[in-house]
Amino acid sequence: MLDIAFIRNNTAAVAEAARVKGMTIDLDRILALDTALRRGKTRIETLRAERNRITAQFAEASAPLRAAGAERSRAIASALTALQGNAGETEQTLRDLLLTVPNLPWPGAPVGPDEKSNQVVRAVGDRPDFAFPPLDHLAIADRHGWIDQSRIAKVAGARSYVLKGRLALLEQALLFDTSRRLAREGVQPIAVPALVRGNAFVNTGHFPFAREDTFELPRDGAYLAGTAEIALTGLHGGEIIDERDLPLLYAGFSPCFRREAGSGGRDVRGLLRVHQFYKVEQYVICRDDPEESAHWHGRLLANAETVLQALELPYQVVECSTGDMGPGKVRMNDIETWVPNLGCYRETHSCSTLHDWQARRANIRWRDRRGQVRFCHTLNNTAIATPRILVPLIENHQTPQGQVRVPTFLRNYLDGEELL
Ligand code: AMP
Repeated sequence: MLDIAFIRNNTAAVAEAARVKGMTIDLDRILALDTALRRGKTRIETLRAERNRITAQFAEASAPLRAAGAERSRAIASALTALQGNAGETEQTLRDLLLTVPNLPWPGAPVGPDEKSNQVVRAVGDRPDFAFPPLDHLAIADRHGWIDQSRIAKVAGARSYVLKGRLALLEQALLFDTSRRLAREGVQPIAVPALVRGNAFVNTGHFPFAREDTFELPRDGAYLAGTAEIALTGLHGGEIIDERDLPLLYAGFSPCFRREAGSGGRDVRGLLRVHQFYKVEQYVICRDDPEESAHWHGRLLANAETVLQALELPYQVVECSTGDMGPGKVRMNDIETWVPNLGCYRETHSCSTLHDWQARRANIRWRDRRGQVRFCHTLNNTAIATPRILVPLIENHQTPQGQVRVPTFLRNYLDGEELL
């Protein structure tokens, strides 16, 4: 959410942000409601001051003046009730509209409607040059009985999967090792629920925008979160954090659920796009200093790249366009990992800076040494998400015999096995 004063003073920039993000917002209505609300509040203050004056003069006033004063006070009281009711309604309508206003993208973001306008920043690692016809991840998994999608479909429907044997162990090793790696960097591992109330989704900005992509449990007034970011933002909602406790650095582990409503029939086979997956999400709450935010953005991205380099996977970092980054983001970098059988890089990580857009919604503030209170900045980034990462891992590290080479650091978790 943007500050209404900022919108008032930078209306053209906000309108431009909505345009380049491909969003429709009713700025005229927002500004009209803001004016009405401020007028209403001024009127309320004026009437309260008048009532206080009458009360102060009451004891020394003559009988007729007292009667007139009492009558005026009654009129003021009923006017105040009406004005306060109106102001409350206007404030609520205004807040609902403010929740639809996007954040301003940073000037370096490519302007464009979707991911096709994203720009490659750097490519890292050599793509494999197979001397044999490489198989896709499902064909390799089939040989080992690692993935079952047909039988589980009877139980859990489309986009479900079962991981078995060494692949199941590899998945858990990846999640654990990534959490441990981040813990060594001073990031606190934290396991959070995916079952979360609706308000937490509003606070992160997932609602109203991504409602369609969210599984809803209407009987319980709850939803299944698609990322740990939702619980982590909620965790500090309404708090004022002391400067000496910042930054808060989390590695949030959670199951993630997505309806994939907008994905049509894309990626229905295999592990790329499923309804339930697992993720370790890096999450930062820091001071509202754009330079500090930029610093953490770089650190989060570097942490994710370290994981991919340890996995010996070729990847590229892309600068996401205005239309791809989503409403709340100032900046977004995706990391895309090479998938040999598709002959392209696919998104496996996403790093986002939101400045105070999310913190305003969730009311997360910090107090500096002089006692001044301000909204925080928040950032998030995938550290690892499985099973999607297993696709490039299996395909890039396959051998002519249909085995999979285990990256060195993971061998400890698999009884020292070099090849699965
Ligand atoms: P996002 O929070 O949308 O930026 O997604 C973060 C990461 O989660 C992506 O880069 C993927 O690695 C993973 N991911 C997102 N959606 C899915 C899905 N439906 N199935 C599997 N992995 C997913």
